[in-house]
Amino acid sequence: MFGRLNSVQISRIRNFSALVQSKALVNGNWIDSSNNDTFDVTNPVNGKKIGSVPNMTVQDAQNAINAAKQAYESKEWRSLTAKDRSNLLKKWHKLIEQHSQQIAEIMTAESGKPINESKGEVLYGNSFVEWFAEEARRIYGEIVPSPVANREIIVMKQPIGVAALITPWNFPLAMITRKAGAALAAGCTVVIKPAEDTPLTALAVAKLAEDAGIPKGVINVVTTNKAAPIGDLFCKSPDVRGISFTGSTQVGKLLFRNAADGIKRVCLELGGNAPFIVFDSANVEKAVDGAMSSKFRNCGQTCVSANRFFVQAGIYDKFVALLKQRVEALKIGDGQSSDIQIGPLINKMQYDKVSGFVEDARSKKAQIVVGGTGLPELGALFYAPTVVTDVPPTAQLYTEEVFGPVVSIIKFKDEAEALQKANDTNRGLAGYFFSENLQQVFRVAKRLEVGMVGVNEGLISAAEAPFGGVKESGVGREGSHHGIDDYVDIKYICMGNLKYD
Ligand code: NAP
Repeated sequence: MFGRLNSVQISRIRNFSALVQSKALVNGNWIDSSNNDTFDVTNPVNGKKIGSVPNMTVQDAQNAINAAKQAYESKEWRSLTAKDRSNLLKKWHKLIEQHSQQIAEIMTAESGKPINESKGEVLYGNSFVEWFAEEARRIYGEIVPSPVANREIIVMKQPIGVAALITPWNFPLAMITRKAGAALAAGCTVVIKPAEDTPLTALAVAKLAEDAGIPKGVINVVTTNKAAPIGDLFCKSPDVRGISFTGSTQVGKLLFRNAADGIKRVCLELGGNAPFIVFDSANVEKAVDGAMSSKFRNCGQTCVSANRFFVQAGIYDKFVALLKQRVEALKIGDGQSSDIQIGPLINKMQYDKVSGFVEDARSKKAQIVVGGTGLPELGALFYAPTVVTDVPPTAQLYTEEVFGPVVSIIKFKDEAEALQKANDTNRGLAGYFFSENLQQVFRVAKRLEVGMVGVNEGLISAAEAPFGGVKESGVGREGSHHGIDDYVDIKYICMGNLKYD
C-alpha cells in the first residue's frame, strides 16, 4: 500500500520557495492564526526579514490538539500496520533526502548555521526518520511464563496517543525528526511547537510529510512567539498524553512541574555543562581536533558542546598553543558561503549572554588568549571565537552553559582532581575525555556523571545511540531503540481459565 513513492511524488521536487511556508499546519490545512496575527522570521546574519508565519493563539493550539486526537482515533491512522507506518516514514525520509539542499538553505537563512553544517544537519535529522521507520516494525511485546496454570501473561506496547513536541532553534530539523519519527513509528499523532527563531525549517519538513502521504491531523505545526501559554495548554490538556521538550533547563523544569497534574509522559532534553578532559597521556592533535568539532559546531550553540576544558599540567602549554592556532584560522561570516565555519549567534539575548560571560571571567582575572570581543564589522550578532584560560570556579563560564564559541580552560594536576571538577555541576548531558591509557579510559568513563561520554571523540551523536542526560540535564532518551519508550504504554493482558487439556 505505501511501499514506494509513485512517479508523481518522485517528480514533484519542490523548489526552495515552494518549501518556504507562511502558514501553519492544522488538520491537514495550511492556515493563518485565528486573529490573523503574524511574526517575522529574520536572518541573524543581517537582521533582514526572510518570511513571516502565523502567530497562533491558545485556541489555535487547542484546535491542533483536537485534530491530532481525531487523527489518532481515525481509521486512516489506527488501522495502519506497523509496516504501513514504516513505509510512510520511509517516503518522508526519501522526500527530505531529495530536498536536502533546499532545506539546508532555509535552515542557514533562519539560523545563521553555515551551509555545510546545515547540510550535515539534514542528513543527521533525516537519519532519525529512517531509523524510526525501521524501528516501527520492532516494537515487540512479550509472553511471560505464568506462575499460574491455565493462564498466560501477555505484554504489549501501545501508542500513548497525542504527543506535544516543543523544539529549540539550534537544530531546527533534527530536534523535530528525533521526536516525531519515534512518535509516528509508535502510532502516536503529534502537535509540534517549533522555536520562534526557526519555524520555516519545521514547516518545510511538515510540507514534505504531507507530500509523503502522512494522513491529515497526524502532524500539526503550531507557530507562535508566545510559547508560555501554549506550553501550559500542552501540560493541562487531558488530550495530550505526552510532552517531549528540548531546550533550556529552566523551561524544562516548568513543563515538568506543570505536567505533573495530568501525570503525563515527559521526555526532557535540557542544557548541559560538558567537561572536556585532556589527560597527559592524550594524543594532543586528536584532542585539539575533538575540541574544535565539539566546541565550534553551530558556533558553540549545541547542548553537547564542550563547556569546560580541563587540561592536565604536563600537556597544557602544547594543547593551548595548538588550539589557539586552530581557532585563529576559523573562517567567520555569512554561512551561505561554503567556506564559512562560524556564523552569528542566533539572537541578541544569546549574544549578550556570551559576551557577558566573557566579561565576567575577565573581571575575575581569567586570561583571554584569543578573541573576547564582538565582530560588529560582520554584523551585530557575530562574536569572535574565543579561548580563555585560568577560568576560576566562580566564573559564569565555569558554572553555566555558555552556548557560544568560547573555550574555557582550567589546568589540573591529577585524575581525581579532573573528575571532581568535571562532576562539580548539577548538569550531566555529555562529557568528553582524551587519554591513551586503557585503565584510565574505563575508570573515567564510568565515573563521569553524564548521560553520554565521548572517549577520544568530540562528535558523538547518532540515530543509533541513546541521547539524553542525567541530573538536571533531563529525563528520557531519544534516538536508538530506547527513543520509542516515551511514546508507548505497556499493557499487561492476563488470559485466564485457558483449557489446555
Ligand atoms: P528555550 O528557551 O527553553 O526554548 C526551547 C523551546 O521552548 C522553544 O520552542 C521555545 O519557544 C519554547 N519555550 C520557551 N518558553 C516556554 C514555556 N514557558 N513553555 C513552553 N515552551 C517554551 O531554549 P533555547 O534558548 O531555545 O535553547 C537553548 C537551550 O536548550 C540550551 O540550554 C541548550 O542546552 C538546550 N538544548 C538542549 C538540547 C538537548 O538535546 N538536551 C538540544 C538543544 C538545546 P520560543 O522559541 O518561542 O521561545
